[in-house]
Amino acid sequence: MGEGKSVWVFSENHDLILEMLGKGREIADKLGAELDVVYVGSNVQEKAKEVVKCGADKIYLVDDPAFEYFQAEAYLGVLHGLAVNYKPEIMLIGSTKNGNPLAARLATRLDVGCVPDCARLSVDDQGRLVGERITYGGNAVAKVTFKTKPQIATVPQRAFDKAEPKDHDGQVVKLDVKAEPAKTEVLERKPLETSNVRIEEAEVVISCGRGLEKKEDKALLDELATVLCGQVGCSRPLAEDRKWFGEWVGLSGHKVKPKLYVACGISGVIQHVAGIRDAKVIVAINKDEQAPIFEIADYGVVGNLYEVLPALKEALKKQLEWTLSKTA
Ligand SMILES: Cc1cc2nc3c(=O)[nH]c(=O)nc-3n(C[C@H](O)[C@H](O)[C@H](O)COP(=O)(O)OP(=O)(O)OC[C@H]3O[C@@H](n4cnc5c(N)ncnc54)[C@H](O)[C@@H]3O)c2cc1C
Repeated sequence: MGEGKSVWVFSENHDLILEMLGKGREIADKLGAELDVVYVGSNVQEKAKEVVKCGADKIYLVDDPAFEYFQAEAYLGVLHGLAVNYKPEIMLIGSTKNGNPLAARLATRLDVGCVPDCARLSVDDQGRLVGERITYGGNAVAKVTFKTKPQIATVPQRAFDKAEPKDHDGQVVKLDVKAEPAKTEVLERKPLETSNVRIEEAEVVISCGRGLEKKEDKALLDELATVLCGQVGCSRPLAEDRKWFGEWVGLSGHKVKPKLYVACGISGVIQHVAGIRDAKVIVAINKDEQAPIFEIADYGVVGNLYEVLPALKEALKKQLEWTLSKTA
């Protein structure tokens, strides 16, 4: 270990903590630093233990019913207090709807810099953190480093693979922290109704764009998704303008990382493509052979989705039945 140097990871999202741990470990090892996690919540001891197994050297654990739900002032108070006391070199914070404003507020309180949405992270030869983030609506990548410490960066979901549990030993430091009084009051909490649950986790995503004419035609995608055990997604106009879906894929929506992404009637402009870059195989179905989606697709079908999708579904079903008959 270095002279008390540490790299910290924080998120209110457990999976995102595990995703940041692997990269955090790499950075900490490069700096000769400790890798610590700030874990805040209620009844989270078991989860904190999992984080130790996945590579954290130390967990600052705040486990109290007052922290059951994310609450900006309360979580900010914890992170700020700890950062002032222990002076980490780097703080990696999960880029979520809560994490991004939290990181910005923390940076303001500490009077340091903050770089949001770093999908790539490295350390330069002066030991400074370097973050890379997509900018100008997906048309450029900005490389940013820091002049102040702690260096605060937020990290989007699925930028890095989750760290796996191994025989790692670490220390859990339980903290008794009082929550800062909130300036807002939560009146009601209700689950979000979404048609596609956790599309980021799906191994197969079938997405439609403005090529889909009517809401009911979603059934065509649902059928193919059922055959391929996948999830259905869409481009932004179908969710934001037509309100046929709750969420969308892309720069301002979900970043997906499936083994197979099928884009049906999607033109493939940069803002959509920014969300599917990490897909292993992209198949595009579009009636315009000049559509930009074909530039990034691994396989392209120039055709009408209303003809191609039913034919594709039938062919896949036949293949599946044949495979099952051979293995029976
Ligand atoms: C700041 C900002 C952020 C944005 N973020 C996102 C984002 O996160 N995600 C996103 O998706 N968009 C985003 N957008 C919107 C984006 O710029 C595009 O407007 C949008 O992606 C286009 O959606 P589309 O491909 O469905 O529609 P279009 O561009 O209209 O394309 C429709 C395609 O369907 C094809 N087609 C039509 N009929 C058929 C048919 N019967 N069979 C086969 N093909 C057919 C056409 O040839 C065409 O290529 C963003 C825009 C801005 C300004």
